[in-house]
Amino acid sequence: MDGYEKLHNYIRGVDSFKNAITLFKSLKNIDTIEVLFSYTISKYNNNQFSKAFENVKEYIPDISIADFNFNIYETSSIYYMNEGQRLKTEDRHALINEFLFLNSLLKKQKSNNIEQKVINKYVELLPLYVNDGRTPLSCSAARSSFFIDPYGNVFPCITWNKKLGNIRDTDYSLKKIVESGNIDDIRRIISEYKCPNCWTPCEAHPSIITNVLTKHINL
Ligand code: SF4
Repeated sequence: MDGYEKLHNYIRGVDSFKNAITLFKSLKNIDTIEVLFSYTISKYNNNQFSKAFENVKEYIPDISIADFNFNIYETSSIYYMNEGQRLKTEDRHALINEFLFLNSLLKKQKSNNIEQKVINKYVELLPLYVNDGRTPLSCSAARSSFFIDPYGNVFPCITWNKKLGNIRDTDYSLKKIVESGNIDDIRRIISEYKCPNCWTPCEAHPSIITNVLTKHINL
């Protein structure tokens, strides 16, 4: 979900707003499934979350901000295939007011749900990331998670095009790839913030949890 109906359909390039609403409502009826709208913030929908939320509310009257997960628009040559379309610095800086607004809405949620707290922390740190252009917390990629593409290629994360090996060459053993490669160098580069730096939830959420467990931050 990337905006109110007209904006969402424009950004997605297809008329999918109502399909997203229908799917959300169907999945919400299944007790064992936790479902969230994923909302990607970019220069194309900057400062439009309120309008999108009100539009969703017309179809789902009891919708709340806790039904949304937020992302910042990122680029990746191995996952989004949109390298070269990185937002300009001024376009990223222009998003800060929307981040602060979302943070103020999320802060009003008195939830003890860990997943909600992780989402809140992710949004809280977005202005820092946009200001510095640097990942706001020590990243746990290549430790707590890896990215494997559909062809079996293994990377530290969805952003960094740094191939570590192919899982088809190791009898589908990730452990063999990790142990045979230069994983210590990769982890050092990440810890020195010399990787491409990003704040994509796929790795940001595990990184937030890792930083809580190592007592570098609180939720
Ligand atoms: S900060 Fe981003 S680019 Fe760097 S290792 Fe973590 S997920 Fe990958």
